[in-house]
Amino acid sequence: MVQKIDTPADPRPALLDLSPDELKALLTSWGQPAFRAGQIYQHLWVRLADSVDAMTDLPAALREQLARETRIGGLTLKVVKSGDDGLTRKAVWTLRGGETIESVLMIYPDRATVCVSSQAGCPMGCVFCATAKLGFLKDLTGGEIAQQVLWAARELKRIGAANDYDPRSRHKVDASNFPKHLSNVVFMGMGEPFNNYDNWWNSIEKLHDPKGFNMGARSFTVSTVGLIPGIQRLMQSGMQVNLAISLHAVDDEARVAMMPVNKRYPIGDLLDAVEEFTRVTGRRVSFEYVLLDHQNDSPAEAEKLAGLLRSRKGLVSHVNLIPWNPVRDTGLSRSTRDRINQFRDILENRGVPATIRIQRGVDIDAACGQLAGDLAQPHAAPPA
Ligand code: SF4
Repeated sequence: MVQKIDTPADPRPALLDLSPDELKALLTSWGQPAFRAGQIYQHLWVRLADSVDAMTDLPAALREQLARETRIGGLTLKVVKSGDDGLTRKAVWTLRGGETIESVLMIYPDRATVCVSSQAGCPMGCVFCATAKLGFLKDLTGGEIAQQVLWAARELKRIGAANDYDPRSRHKVDASNFPKHLSNVVFMGMGEPFNNYDNWWNSIEKLHDPKGFNMGARSFTVSTVGLIPGIQRLMQSGMQVNLAISLHAVDDEARVAMMPVNKRYPIGDLLDAVEEFTRVTGRRVSFEYVLLDHQNDSPAEAEKLAGLLRSRKGLVSHVNLIPWNPVRDTGLSRSTRDRINQFRDILENRGVPATIRIQRGVDIDAACGQLAGDLAQPHAAPPA
């Protein structure tokens, strides 16, 4: 059943959307000394405050004004679901207009990763993806993208402090190896980050700021369906963010049928851009390949993929094989374990490193390709 959301638009500025200078300008316009902006910035980005009440070193009158005239972030947390014995958490958020997005925290021995959304819905129309069925709803701001990461860092601390998971889980996390910090941010949730490049980049700058959250560039991985202008902008940025390409097919005809974006950026052009990215940055690029039963998982396709990647001498690549997670009304089904293993073995035997991705969050619809929002999508386009 679809639940109706009635979230009135809130016009107050979100503190997480403001740069340090903008925060200073706001505080100065209120007649406050500039150093108050620095205090607030520290609360938001270092101490991970999620409410003005936590900023106890500010005068009470200033806290009241902040609460009245601003909000912490543009997203409102609706519910957090727990899966995988407490080691996967899915946050469901609403935007100011009531649209829903999701983020997923995954805890492993000695590391923790958060997968964040960059858009509400997605305009890219990949046929195997639940988000695509929503159509495009809205771009997230840089502050809204970063807010999901701050939530994950807080949630990780809380789970560890409260031992709020099952240490006998098959995922082998216990008190001895529970991660102390968030290790990775992957931009692989709802939306195409390079289709919202400026805001996505703004979130990177916010999270990377050494005076704030201070996350290293190599901790970020951005995944794209292959928007070449975005690959080129990232290449020119000089920032060592990891790049992952959602490839999913080995020839243009098959890829167009799965991913309409391939009409604009065919495989040959995409691989040219990735080769150039590797040459300029020296970074290994990974390729994501979702395995669909008898659609793209044959031995011949594995051979062709290996040939495609090995023919590019400038590519230093790795393939992540993703067992497809069920999405309703797609007419698709998941590859069998035998076909997945066979696909991986062919790649490896042809000298292309390949890994089968560990499944997380299937029990709470939080796995790859399943993010579609648990609540109502007031502006969602019906699936075609
Ligand atoms: S796979 Fe990614 S780019 Fe494609 S429709 Fe889904 S969210 Fe958008």
